[in-house]
Amino acid sequence: MIVLMHAEASDEQVDVVVGRITSRGLEALRLPGGDHVAIGVASAIRPEERPELESALRALPGVAHVAHVSRPYKLASREFHAASSVVEVAGAAFGGPGCVVIAGPCAVESYPQILASAQAVRSAGASLLRGGAFKPRTSPYSFQGLQLEGLEMMKAAGAEAGIGTVTEVIDAHDVETVCAYVDMLQIGARNMQNFPLLIAAGRSGHPVLLKRGPGATLDEFLFAAEYVLSQGSSRVVLCERGVHPLDRTYMRNTLDLNAVPILKDISHLPVIVDPSHGIGQARYVPAMALAAVAAGADGLIVEVHPNPSEALSDGSQSLTPAAFADLMQRLPAVAQAVGRGA
Ligand code: PEP
Ligand code: MN
Repeated sequence: MIVLMHAEASDEQVDVVVGRITSRGLEALRLPGGDHVAIGVASAIRPEERPELESALRALPGVAHVAHVSRPYKLASREFHAASSVVEVAGAAFGGPGCVVIAGPCAVESYPQILASAQAVRSAGASLLRGGAFKPRTSPYSFQGLQLEGLEMMKAAGAEAGIGTVTEVIDAHDVETVCAYVDMLQIGARNMQNFPLLIAAGRSGHPVLLKRGPGATLDEFLFAAEYVLSQGSSRVVLCERGVHPLDRTYMRNTLDLNAVPILKDISHLPVIVDPSHGIGQARYVPAMALAAVAAGADGLIVEVHPNPSEALSDGSQSLTPAAFADLMQRLPAVAQAVGRGA
């Protein structure tokens, strides 16, 4: 069970709710929100006790809403928030009627490269520009990103091309800095369970694109989202990007499209799909991008590079601007076929 307080509820009113819960021998969990405080009942409530407790709590001053939430992640669950959430970022609405496309290179490499990417993806119809300035690489000898300089290029390119920006943050201490440069933070697959990072991102209030770890169950994924939400943020977008594959000969990961309808059923958060990391080869990316939209994804994040053969990271899975424009032309028919505006 979860109790959502009105935005203007006083600390005393919160204390009364907590007291009412603990007086029954149940554990109360304070979930400090940006605007609203929520109080979760952490212990199991006997079914016969539930209706009475619910009406007692509902009657207390300052209480806005009481919901039954049987899932352990409360704020991320659809039981808590029945309506699908819409997360707005720089004019794009994830979870709205349209399909939001984020596109751009794996990494920011130079100003001409990120500007050309921004212009190409924007003119093809993408809503947001992606590009990593801090790159989490398997090898310490691989390109690690341009870091602060990359953030500056990202911001300037987004402004020049007139498109919002998304970039990855890999260290909790960098969250504030990264927020100053981009419209949305990405938390990458490798950091899905970096709890201090999730907390710092949640506290920032900035929209968060949270990628699923390659070995994470859907419950673990939603617990990670819960970390962000529990800090008062309500702007989390989930991203399926592929799980460890059975066959590494042909694919980098296995894009788990099962996750899309399941996550949308058990959570109210928008769900997007990354077909680039999901399959790992540019020529297969469009098919999986279209499949993701057919499965009900609220959007896509696609790697696009002006010259993939010269990319410093993930060139082999990056679309050329022409291939991306072609994909964007084909998306509306699939979106409309599954009842979604283009
Ligand atoms: C990326 O988006 O470039 C990236 C590193 O993704 P992931 O965290 O999904 O591997
Ligand atoms: Mn990449």
